[in-house]
Amino acid sequence: MRGIRKDSNQLKGHPLTAQRCLLLDIIHNSSEPIDARELYRRASSKDRSVSMATIYRSLRLFKELGLIDKMRLGLMHSCYEISHSMEHQHIICQCCGKVIEFESPLLTELIRNLQREHNFNVTRAELCLEGYCQQCKEEAERNR
Ligand SMILES: [Zn+2]
Repeated sequence: MRGIRKDSNQLKGHPLTAQRCLLLDIIHNSSEPIDARELYRRASSKDRSVSMATIYRSLRLFKELGLIDKMRLGLMHSCYEISHSMEHQHIICQCCGKVIEFESPLLTELIRNLQREHNFNVTRAELCLEGYCQQCKEEAERNR
């Protein structure tokens, strides 16, 4: 799964409960931004203990943590999607083509600041760094 690291079982100090995990999965796998009702419908079909209150509480937490973006559709209607700034970025070796994926809270922070500064809603962020990996660097040095 792209974007969200689940290995630590923590969301910046908030326990990543099975329910929150399920909700993030649903938002992530949704082909389009999803609203709270639809999220509830899909989540409760998999876990009957999910309530509408759980949905709203989790959405607020995810939003606070920058994991999801909220989009307003009309006055009372909001949709949510996985924050693209959370998706991982790439470092690519120009020599062997190796791709290293990375995530950086600094990048997320930068995007958040730019959004605020320019009152701009960033929906996609892609950073692609090219260079030489350790192996190719060492090889080049040996052949010099
Ligand atoms: Zn390489």
